[in-house]
Amino acid sequence: MGNQNSGILYVVATPIGNLQDISARALQLLQQVDLIAAEDTRHSARLLEHFGIRTPMVACHEHNERDGSGALVERLLAGETLALISDAGTPLVSDPGFRLVRAARAAAVQVVPVPGACAAIAALSVAGLPSDRFSFEGFLPAKSAARSKRLQDLAGDSRTLIFYEAPHRVLECVMDMASAFGPLRKAVLARELTKAFETIHDAPLGELAAWIAADSNQQRGECVLLVEGADDKAERDVVDAESQRVLMLLAAELPLKKAAALTAQITGARKNLLYQWGLEQGR
Ligand code: SAM
Repeated sequence: MGNQNSGILYVVATPIGNLQDISARALQLLQQVDLIAAEDTRHSARLLEHFGIRTPMVACHEHNERDGSGALVERLLAGETLALISDAGTPLVSDPGFRLVRAARAAAVQVVPVPGACAAIAALSVAGLPSDRFSFEGFLPAKSAARSKRLQDLAGDSRTLIFYEAPHRVLECVMDMASAFGPLRKAVLARELTKAFETIHDAPLGELAAWIAADSNQQRGECVLLVEGADDKAERDVVDAESQRVLMLLAAELPLKKAAALTAQITGARKNLLYQWGLEQGR
């Protein structure tokens, strides 16, 4: 139950490019609330001006959110209504707002979502990759070693992976993905969604890297990268290096069937898979 006397915190999505993507409800609320907490007041002033909205604004960004949330919650508790917006899309999605929302909820202030655009979801909706399970990974670490480590950790994940990336890093990022996930893993680059140069391009990671490298326009604007999850079956059907080594040694001395059975006992790999692999090697 919300605090009966307090105002309401509306978390309002704004467009990610095309201004017509703002909802009628968002416009009405931005007009009506007492105060708009914006990630960048100068940036949002242009949006509000476009729609003729003159509601006062206050800054709520990653540098002042920790200290500033208290004052905003005080105002909510005093009965004011507030809308939280970010520079684009849905607040809190790789954007500030989490601390304010948490503080408001802790103070029993009602927090109401006003949903709308989100680049990750817009990209997923057109990527043609499995969408029943996905993992939003936000921005990868900027430094190469940390990024590769994160990608290695994700290599076995069977969910569709969604990343935000800065345009000047998109090429090195796709190249690192090709190393970590293999060049044949399907991927999609969704760039400048809802804008004039909207591009949605799908290709295996290796080809995608070459395509981006060949066209510097693909390293401009805003982009979302999506990668198909690991194929569970394919992972299971790979004979690991140690099993290969043991099988080759034994198969040099024994019939393949016997060698496969012994290798299975030694390494724990599946006997049939080992036998099949042995046949493929001409044993
Ligand atoms: N809160 C936003 C949302 O709901 O999507 C995301 C904010 S995050 C700071 C900005 C990143 O989102 C960009 O670097 C880019 O990866 C992605 N993004 C935002 N707008 C986009 C667009 N129109 N097309 C493609 N990606 C976009």
